[in-house]
Amino acid sequence: MRKLILAATAALALAAAATPAAAWNGRGHMLVAAVAWDNMTPEARAEAGRLLKLNPAYATWTAGVPASKRDQVAFIKASAWPDDVRGSYTMDGYVPVEPIASQNLGYSDRYVHGYWHFADAPYAPTGAAVPTPPEVNAVSRIKVFSDALTASDSDDVRSYDLTWLIHLVGDIHQPLHSTTRYLADNKGDSGGNFVKVCFQACAVKDADNLHSIWDNALGKPRDIDSVLDTAEGLAKAPDALAAIGDPDVWFQESADLARSTGYVDPVENGTGPYVLTASYRNRVVSVAQKRIELAGVRLANLLNARLVKAPAQVAQPQ
Ligand SMILES: [Zn+2]
Repeated sequence: MRKLILAATAALALAAAATPAAAWNGRGHMLVAAVAWDNMTPEARAEAGRLLKLNPAYATWTAGVPASKRDQVAFIKASAWPDDVRGSYTMDGYVPVEPIASQNLGYSDRYVHGYWHFADAPYAPTGAAVPTPPEVNAVSRIKVFSDALTASDSDDVRSYDLTWLIHLVGDIHQPLHSTTRYLADNKGDSGGNFVKVCFQACAVKDADNLHSIWDNALGKPRDIDSVLDTAEGLAKAPDALAAIGDPDVWFQESADLARSTGYVDPVENGTGPYVLTASYRNRVVSVAQKRIELAGVRLANLLNARLVKAPAQVAQPQ
């Protein structure tokens, strides 16, 4: 059984390693963080501001920013940090290998951990065999990092985990970061990375890929004013949905959306290139807006509950 799982994992590795999936681009992650900041309590904001000063990029994030805005700007820019370090940290692939995969060391950990960014539910519309997804993934890391915010005594670890949480709660709300489609046995499309698409008829060499269409759904500018403007204009998430705090549900919602809005006409069961219709593209934008708003509010709920340690908790006897 163990060997079977390892073989399946290796197959997934091959599929995922060829084209790294990034999830929302920098702007998408910043939008999630901007929405979260608007919904955080003053106590949670203050603790986030204090912890993020420990991130090695803090000085870069806040250069030239007025003191009164530094906490908010650092929080928003921290959202993209796990992607921003890909060029300078050690690449350790897209398949978790222990003991590195599950470690939680704080900033002394200089691995990229590409497999922390997604949790691909296998989707096999034509009945292809699918591998067992790795247990270390975006969902399991959200749980580990959330617990550590409350339980760890190390501010270095809590700062690192906070930075990753701001990022991963965004990632898991991106539909194509929660699903990989299998059309041939154990050979996945890496969340649409291997599916070619165009906005008008094109050759394969000129095509974009389906995954990146979703990543870049809300544009690319990363300047703070543009992010704040767009975040403010997003429609408020329904209270009942916003209140859901279980990362497994967030993941399942995304996987369902990938099937109902991602792998649908004009995207067929193949590798393309497919010409995206206006209605497909409009739906991508609409779904992305809703998922980013939801991710932001849910991130705020999580941080409001976990980030500030209650004094009574510290005083409780063992
Ligand atoms: Zn990511």
